[in-house]
Amino acid sequence: MAGAAARLLSSLEAIVGPEACISSPEHLLTYECDGLTHHRGRPAAVVLARDKTEVSRVIRACRAAGVPFVPRGAGTGLSGGALAPEGSVVIECSRLNRILEIDPEDRVAVVQPGVVNADLSKAVAGFGLHFAPDPSSQLACTIGGNIAENSGGPHTLKYGTTTNHVLALELVLPDGEIVRLGSRTGWDFAYDLVGAVVGSEGTLGVVTEATVRLTALPEAVETLLAIFPDVVSACRAVGEVIRTGLVPAALEIVDRKTIEAIEASVYAAGLPTDAGAVLIVELDGAAHLLPEQMQRVRELVAAERATRVEVARDAAERQRLWRARKGAFGALGRLAPDLYVHDAVVPRPKLPEVLERILAIGERYSLRLSNVFHAGDGNLHPNISFDRRDADELARVLAAGEEILRVCVEAGGVISGEHGIGTEKRDFMGLLFGKADLDAMRRLRDAFDPEHVCNPGKIFPTTRFCVESNPKARGYDRVRFDA
Ligand SMILES: Cc1cc2nc3c(=O)[nH]c(=O)nc-3n(C[C@H](O)[C@H](O)[C@H](O)COP(=O)(O)OP(=O)(O)OC[C@H]3O[C@@H](n4cnc5c(N)ncnc54)[C@H](O)[C@@H]3O)c2cc1C
Repeated sequence: MAGAAARLLSSLEAIVGPEACISSPEHLLTYECDGLTHHRGRPAAVVLARDKTEVSRVIRACRAAGVPFVPRGAGTGLSGGALAPEGSVVIECSRLNRILEIDPEDRVAVVQPGVVNADLSKAVAGFGLHFAPDPSSQLACTIGGNIAENSGGPHTLKYGTTTNHVLALELVLPDGEIVRLGSRTGWDFAYDLVGAVVGSEGTLGVVTEATVRLTALPEAVETLLAIFPDVVSACRAVGEVIRTGLVPAALEIVDRKTIEAIEASVYAAGLPTDAGAVLIVELDGAAHLLPEQMQRVRELVAAERATRVEVARDAAERQRLWRARKGAFGALGRLAPDLYVHDAVVPRPKLPEVLERILAIGERYSLRLSNVFHAGDGNLHPNISFDRRDADELARVLAAGEEILRVCVEAGGVISGEHGIGTEKRDFMGLLFGKADLDAMRRLRDAFDPEHVCNPGKIFPTTRFCVESNPKARGYDRVRFDA
């Protein structure tokens, strides 16, 4: 190890302790990627900070050494957001994992960023509350990652994304200063800096504490499975449900290939493997209102060619269905060494047409493409099972991925619903934004991090003008990852 790198390592060890500083090549393997397995980079070290002071001191040490740093939660991100440039330092938040306060009366919790999403809901369930954002990865992903990606989940349709549930933040800025943003009441009369940080993909600092809103568990829940001959009919049914003004808690579509993968896995829930697609409809709210809404949904899906409707009889059946739906990516992981989980949004009325085009793209490139997605939000997840070691297959996956994005944008959509831009989509930002838009976003980033030392290489395209638009930036954004 060269002198400067060795000196940085020993300062990091002095801050967090040698046992909390990972630098051996075999241990760093874990940190080479997140859930986007075909983008890779190896950091010089990973530190497991325990509190905001350690985070701040680590940042100052990195800056003194001229080394960029990357915040990281559980590494379940799907767009390369936590990917570390060669030689950088990863600030891992898994030890910042305490729930500091639960206030059931005010329906607020104060948590550290390494708290696992599902653990927060479990901790407040006894008060009849939950943390509403529920990414399918919620058994592993952290609140810090949810904040950075503005994560959604199946219940986003009714309850919104993470941004709707964050009231205040403690943030260690990219120069090491510790600041507090927002207020516990949710009212803030200055610029909405909490709103700016949520969804900023770890580029504006390291979140070390979050005050989040808790939501009452609904009085009653009904979950219904509508079985369709094909995925396009299921999409039409989604459009009809929304058109009537009903707001289900969730409207999720699972196509046949995904059903087959689920049923062959530990997540099997008795889904019909002969169906073209299933639509999961969850309704929640006041108990007396649900029977009428259920009847309405039954009629609507039947009119769109649903061949059968099954209703979960109790909480155990409902849980089995959600375990299957949320385990879908895991089940697909059995089909090939790699899974590219795509993420884009289209206006809901365009779902049937866009889905048909996506299926055609998969066939044209001879790819194993399946779909499981938040249909109620128009948030598509075309999933491609592949082997990144096969260069020809990887090239086809990337070409198909780009075409899928172009189809979604052409349909009036956007290039990410919930997984973020990261390294995955930074070079597709130009599909949606012009130079002036990107420069405006960069000026916001510059206000927090003029030298781009905090999670560089993310969000912004690697084209020259973007780097040159800020003379103070040290050019870390130029960094490329293996792809
Ligand atoms: C099986 C599976 C299912 C998924 N389902 C969903 C889903 O339904 N909805 C959804 O939205 N996403 C989903 N995801 C994506 C992913 O789980 C989310 O983006 C999640 O919020 C990432 O959390 P994490 O703790 O793993 O963060 P990481 O992957 O470690 O990091 C993600 C980003 O957050 C930043 N970050 C992490 N901690 C901090 C911090 N303390 N301060 C500042 N920045 C920070 C990182 O720099 C990075 O940019 C899924 C992923 C998998 C693997």
